[in-house]
Amino acid sequence: MKSKREQLDKLNAYWQENCKCELKKTATQAVYGDGNAEARVVFIGEAPGKNEDLGGQPFIGSAGKFLDEMLEEIGMKREDIYITNIAKYRPPNNRDPEPQEKKDCSEWLYKELSIINPKLIVFLGRHSMNDFFPELKISDAHGKLIIKQFAHIPVTHFLPLYHPAAALYNGGMRETLIKDFKKITGALEKIKTEK
Ligand code: URA
Repeated sequence: MKSKREQLDKLNAYWQENCKCELKKTATQAVYGDGNAEARVVFIGEAPGKNEDLGGQPFIGSAGKFLDEMLEEIGMKREDIYITNIAKYRPPNNRDPEPQEKKDCSEWLYKELSIINPKLIVFLGRHSMNDFFPELKISDAHGKLIIKQFAHIPVTHFLPLYHPAAALYNGGMRETLIKDFKKITGALEKIKTEK
């Protein structure tokens, strides 16, 4: 049996070749998910930005730095988590990914999540949340743990948060995100006691 890391490497090599996403034409490279393949928590963002497109890793710009600070506050490091995006290619000028572009990368994402099979998925922003829960509004759903069974992924616990890039320069949202972020630890404890 291959390790989760080996399975992810194989998955990324396959999808790098076969992804039909139009964004491939304008992006520098695919930005794969990154981090600990054995992680209990997976964070899902929207799409790579300029820094990520050039560097080939998710969340390495200012939003990523803010994320690292919040992780440190709850006693975690990047090496403890896994982080990925809905779209694996940067949309031109950081526009929102189109529905078809998200759809084209979705099987890649769902397979990625099925390999890692984390206890908890943390959505960073409304785009990733709406991919799984299209009916929810991030202004209502942020910081609230959701339990739901899906047919296409084995994960059942989800925590939506504001996107760190949106909260970075918005005082109120920033405070809310920092407060909500601390709920990750409690959610993981709760999940542990449920099993
Ligand atoms: N914002 C995202 O949603 N993803 C990244 O990788 C970087 C910024």
